[in-house]
Amino acid sequence: MSPKIPNAVIDDLRGIVGDKWVIVQRELMESYLKDETPDIIRPKPAEDLILVKPSSTEEVSLILKIANEKRIPVFPVGGRTGLVGGAVPTEPGIIISLERMNKIEVDLENMMAIAEAGATLGDLIKVAENAGLFFPPHPGDEGAQIGGLIATNAGGARAIKYGVMRNYIKGLEVVLPTGDVLSLGGRILKNNVGYDLIQLIIGSEGTLCVITKAVIKLFPKSKYMVTLVVPFNTRSEALRSVPAILRSGVIPLAIEYVQINEILEAARHLNEKWPVHKGFAQLIIILDGMSQEEVLAACEEISRICESNNALDVMLAETPEEQNRILKIRSNIYTALKPNMIDILDVTVPPSCLEKLMDEVDAIGSRYGVYLPAYGHAGDGNLHVHIMKEGIKSMEMVKKIKGEIYEMAVRLGGTITGEHGIGKIRLGDLSMVLSEKHIEILRGIKRVFDPNNILNPRHPL
Ligand SMILES: Cc1cc2nc3c(=O)[nH]c(=O)nc-3n(C[C@H](O)[C@H](O)[C@H](O)COP(=O)(O)OP(=O)(O)OC[C@H]3O[C@@H](n4cnc5c(N)ncnc54)[C@H](O)[C@@H]3O)c2cc1C
Repeated sequence: MSPKIPNAVIDDLRGIVGDKWVIVQRELMESYLKDETPDIIRPKPAEDLILVKPSSTEEVSLILKIANEKRIPVFPVGGRTGLVGGAVPTEPGIIISLERMNKIEVDLENMMAIAEAGATLGDLIKVAENAGLFFPPHPGDEGAQIGGLIATNAGGARAIKYGVMRNYIKGLEVVLPTGDVLSLGGRILKNNVGYDLIQLIIGSEGTLCVITKAVIKLFPKSKYMVTLVVPFNTRSEALRSVPAILRSGVIPLAIEYVQINEILEAARHLNEKWPVHKGFAQLIIILDGMSQEEVLAACEEISRICESNNALDVMLAETPEEQNRILKIRSNIYTALKPNMIDILDVTVPPSCLEKLMDEVDAIGSRYGVYLPAYGHAGDGNLHVHIMKEGIKSMEMVKKIKGEIYEMAVRLGGTITGEHGIGKIRLGDLSMVLSEKHIEILRGIKRVFDPNNILNPRHPL
């Protein structure tokens, strides 16, 4: 039971969503108390929580109105695939899951999807495909929900050509902590009326409002898509190829950098076979286009660039099954390494500085006597560095290693998080990238949206 939430409030919530959708037993809400953040650093959930599953925007609004009146914290959750503890309910209060709000319609004429926030990335990919359209981004875990993807401005592989979530959202329906419903934008591509609240809400990590619906831009399905896997003996050879590819005029959907040990580990973890066993460093390059000739000409150009940087081979996957398998193995490096991991960082630097950053990460690892496996979205300068348990003597040591990596990323003109966000585990590091004035403005915005600080309360924001 939840002693901190008055019984009268629980009765009101039952009246709004129905008895079945208000869960008070702890054992029935276990999977809502955590996300995919590694166990050691994931924040602890509070004891006194209730889980509510509304089925409509009106119900979300009524729930927030009550919570606001009674000053009860509310934690919006999506698919709980986040990597920074953002969805973990850390104070007694209400967990709100929109999983019952999962409808998606496609507006074929305007090439947009109108999706409720509880639909998953997997659902969106499928619905778009069935309509002959394409939703390009692929932020790893297809169990992530539309609300969570927007709230974290997710990126992932396949962002080079069409961008991250921010570039796809044309309209939003959201519920403010007061219960007011806002309808923003729509099926339009241009909109210049005042401050852009849609862009402010994208990436707000459940602190400003609950997202209930979104209008999402889709693209025509490519007629032809291929995935290349290109091995190199050295990291330098692989990474030198990236800016050259980006300058060549060919715009791939993705250029991913992986190292042989981690990609083979991910394949073993999934009981799958990785197609290329050569070299230390590999690039995975995804290309699409309207004809086979166009895409094969782009492949030739990329092969030429990679070979001029001593590529050992260029493996081309053409069937959708083979390409999906490659993407799935790449997306699961994190899952494979997770049992032995303390933290996954996602620092981002200008793409041309990626090699320098990785060399510095190696140097930091050597100084502390630990191996820091790294891979990432090379075309975006976005690097996932893992702090593994092996060799780590204390959490103080973790803090120092992380601090040095962050410092290096910032010194190279980058940032401490390119896609996972601040969540609840990176709040202490904000001052490394944001000035006092900047943080003060963010706090002011939070107060305007959420004067009683009930929505995903976290400190200092
Ligand atoms: C194997 C793996 C690979 C991944 N790869 C990538 C990657 O390549 N790129 C990338 O960007 N991310 C990646 N991620 C991280 C993760 O998938 C994203 O952060 C995802 O966008 C979170 O969506 P979710 O629905 O799971 O949200 P949750 O984890 O449930 O919540 C995340 C945040 O969003 C808020 N939120 C959720 N729903 C709503 C809503 N309806 N309204 C308001 N706020 C809401 C929560 O309060 C929380 O702050 C990966 C994760 C895993 C496990």
